Amino acid sequence: MHQPVLVLNANFEPINVCNTRRAITLVLSGKASLVLDGRAEIRTVRRIYPSPSVIRLEKMVHQPRPHVRLTKREILRRDGYTCQYCGQYSAELTVDHIVPRRLGGQHSWNNLVAACPACNHRKGSRTIEQAQMHLLRPASEPPATASYLFGRHLGNNSEWIPFIEGW
Ligand SMILES: [Zn+2]
Repeated sequence: MHQPVLVLNANFEPINVCNTRRAITLVLSGKASLVLDGRAEIRTVRRIYPSPSVIRLEKMVHQPRPHVRLTKREILRRDGYTCQYCGQYSAELTVDHIVPRRLGGQHSWNNLVAACPACNHRKGSRTIEQAQMHLLRPASEPPATASYLFGRHLGNNSEWIPFIEGW
């Protein structure tokens, strides 16, 4: 009941991920229809339901273009889990302020990068120029495409790929 279900808008745009229980409620109440049933059946006392994998809302929901939330996890994901100074892949990355906070550096997508502990320590509270270091690429907000927003689910739900591509 806690498996993720991809929710499509009426125009087939992927807009959300909910759990199986919520998806079945939407389908049974007529607010959504089953697009792809998943892996098994849900048995209740009275009925057997196909377990949904993808559902589609019957009515168009208008929502503002989503933004990727600015969290450490998302910064590391944007940067491919590699230090943006030395390029090392690491499981123990930190988040570095490119322009240090004491110099007015913001807590923003443009000023935060993944850094390995060694590079973060070496840079300290200096600017890149002062520390004579280089960024692999400029930092920017990742585009909130469907494949970016929902990409972390695709390993376990590869049947979603055709519904996510192109959005
Ligand atoms: Zn590094």
